[in-house]
Amino acid sequence: MTIRDTITMKPRYFLTILLFVSHSCWCTNREYRGYKGGIWTVMNILVMNCGSSSLKFQLIDAETESVKAKGLCERIGIDGSRIVYRPANKEKVIEEAPMPTHAAAINIALKYLTDEIHGVISDLSEIDAVGHRVAQGAEKFSKAVLIDDAVIKAIDENSELAPLHNPANLTGIQVCRALMPDVPMAAVFDTAFHQTMPQKAYLYGIPFHYYTDYKVRRYGFHGTSHSYVSKRTAQILGKAPEELKTIVCHLGNGSSVCAVKGGKSVDTSMGFTPISGLVMGTRCGDVDPEIIEYIAEKEGITTHDVMDILNRKSGIYGLTDGIVDFRDLRAGAASGDEQCMRALEIFNYHVTTRIGAYAAAMNGVDAIAFTAGIGENAPTIRKAVCENLTYLGIELDDAKNDANEPDSVITTPESKVKVLIVPTNEELMIARETAEVVME
Ligand code: AMP
Repeated sequence: MTIRDTITMKPRYFLTILLFVSHSCWCTNREYRGYKGGIWTVMNILVMNCGSSSLKFQLIDAETESVKAKGLCERIGIDGSRIVYRPANKEKVIEEAPMPTHAAAINIALKYLTDEIHGVISDLSEIDAVGHRVAQGAEKFSKAVLIDDAVIKAIDENSELAPLHNPANLTGIQVCRALMPDVPMAAVFDTAFHQTMPQKAYLYGIPFHYYTDYKVRRYGFHGTSHSYVSKRTAQILGKAPEELKTIVCHLGNGSSVCAVKGGKSVDTSMGFTPISGLVMGTRCGDVDPEIIEYIAEKEGITTHDVMDILNRKSGIYGLTDGIVDFRDLRAGAASGDEQCMRALEIFNYHVTTRIGAYAAAMNGVDAIAFTAGIGENAPTIRKAVCENLTYLGIELDDAKNDANEPDSVITTPESKVKVLIVPTNEELMIARETAEVVME
């Protein structure tokens, strides 16, 4: 019997009522399961990352920081939706299941987590807190917060700044709240870490009232990743974050660079939206705004159409014959394909020049950390990026760079600036911030 069969067979509301009653009891006493006498002994945190057509989730044991189970629901609201579910120490499960809505996907995810065979908890009452990734917190949120009606309203109001992301994040929150009404939930914002940027870094050279009237400014994204990686970098180097000037290069499907001074973000390459900064898989990165109207006129299309092209058909995809995956790009470049070589050179160049800019912004740099799919796995890209940074005092150790070891320093002991590979862990960071918020 599949999870889907179970869902359709069992009266769902009975479980919800049962949960409501049991949670009401422990919440009013503040004697959470595992929270006795002011000390946490057990805490299962469910991390939810709800995208427009996908849901990523992880159940994390806050005490050991281990992942009990994780999963991905794909193609929500589209034909061919499926769940890939990976419980720790058990068989991976892939099931094609109709997921017409996010509610259906979340129900399936929760059913897997509590399933007799595949599950890792016996029922939903073992979930102590839920942490939701939210894309845009704008100036309202400079840290994670406990979700209440006012927070939901604010996330909704921020949807106009992130129309592709915030509504999906909000749906995830609302569905989880309906299913687990008394479980404390936190919103962890992609933008929050960058709220420490000074005005000189976040204001654009446009009429000032666009900022005051319409909130047009640089927000930056990938904040959870930049925060995690900069802290982990300090830990690996045996320093306090306050002592370091670090540049984090989050290079993945979306890419951004962040200057972190004394543990705080002081500048980052993504801006008002995640389209700007580096050349990415399908996004153009920084372009002259005149290009938009010019192309629209030349092609006889609207500026809206051009924006769509700049978001979905540009970057590496646009520079090549539709390549998005950097593994294919590297393979193409290695085999001498000119388009691939050119696109890769452009990507690397933009990362290098951004690092140079941020070294200038901080008047120096102690460490450069590479993270995310490309940053963690592509030695040739790290080497090419660092090639023109010898003036900063970087001496790459080729053997260490090629070894691709997670959490490793890949420069020589003499290198003035340390370069590291630091795998990002946004889910763990969300779980940590959720635990903090819930315990406040
Ligand atoms: P992420 O968004 O962090 O999941 O990163 C996804 C990106 O990492 C994709 O473009 C992948 O092609 C890229 N990636 C994964 N492994 C490698 C690799 N060995 N070399 C180059 N790129 C990689």
